[in-house]
Amino acid sequence: MTEPTTADAFLQAQELAKRALALLIKSHIPPTPPHYAVSYAYFQGLPAEVHEIIQEYIHKGEALTEALLRTLYERYLLPDGYERIRSVRSDLERLLKTLLKTLKTADAGNQSFQQALQANIEALARAEDSISLQEIAQSLLAAAQQAQAEQRKLAEELDSAREELKKAQTEIEHHRRAAQTDPLTGLYNRRGLEQVLQELWPTTPTLSMLVADIDHFKKINDTYGHQVGDVVIRQVAETLRRTIRGEDYAARYGGEEFVLLLPDTGLPGAAQVAENIRARVAKLRLVRKSDHLAIDAFTISVGVAARRSGEGPEDLFKRADEAVYASKRNGRNRVTVLE
Ligand code: GH3
Ligand code: MG
Ligand code: MG
Repeated sequence: MTEPTTADAFLQAQELAKRALALLIKSHIPPTPPHYAVSYAYFQGLPAEVHEIIQEYIHKGEALTEALLRTLYERYLLPDGYERIRSVRSDLERLLKTLLKTLKTADAGNQSFQQALQANIEALARAEDSISLQEIAQSLLAAAQQAQAEQRKLAEELDSAREELKKAQTEIEHHRRAAQTDPLTGLYNRRGLEQVLQELWPTTPTLSMLVADIDHFKKINDTYGHQVGDVVIRQVAETLRRTIRGEDYAARYGGEEFVLLLPDTGLPGAAQVAENIRARVAKLRLVRKSDHLAIDAFTISVGVAARRSGEGPEDLFKRADEAVYASKRNGRNRVTVLE
């Protein structure tokens, strides 16, 4: 086959042009450049897909439509594969919109990334070729990277803030406990006891209170010194701690005075606890470390009272305290239960 001459090519093109135009007119389709290009391509046989699709329509006797010709034009004849770009673009657009939605809910603070996304979505709507798509993709990537860096920084700041907060909370808790704790014995101090009473009172209608006071403690101090006195106080505290249950509270209320709170315990149970403590303390035997001197046995006097309906914490304490004095009056080393 020989190459067609320029004159042949011109005649051939003229023939194709005539037929292309005729087909459009016959089909009542306006001969706009895109429509014309498709019709021309059909008669030229290039691209083959355009030829095959139109031929099928004609064979079946179906009318050609503007929509069909526009679709064929965009799919097969537009430079840069317009249709391909459009589908990529709509994919990207969907992705960006989803991202934007996620970001809006997940991180309202990340304004700049959202703005970058918004701008890219708008640019996408205008993008006509693969170069601008590439630019959009690049600026999107940069925005994403920057957002990621910002978020990492934010996360780090949040982490350290959380750490600080935890430290502060631990410190506050430590101070709160320290403020409520007696350093010599580790029991609640007077303030702690008052706090516990206040918290317990509204929800604990059945509540017993024990007040214990070391007998002739002044004499222990005078005889053996304050250091031994302190050891005696600690031993009594330890005895209280070992005798009570987990839900009970023990406090060192004054120098050698202790208070126990027994929730959900009536007078008989509380009297039993008081007697146990009294007996255990009376059995304690201490030896001074420095010279192995045996310390004389010591005792406590205990008063027991139970909460009455309508009374406040001070009333209960007053009666338990009166009970202690009754024990003292009656010879010490004993338990008095106020009915
Ligand atoms: P009673 O049997 O009537 O209770 O006599 P008592 O001597 O125990 O009572 P009093 O209240 O007269 O004496 C209590 C003493 O406890 C007085 C005080 O010096 C001493 N004391 C108070 N706090 C402490 C302390 O923390 N350590 C020591 N070693 N002694 C303390
Ligand atoms: Mg006392
Ligand atoms: Mg005493």
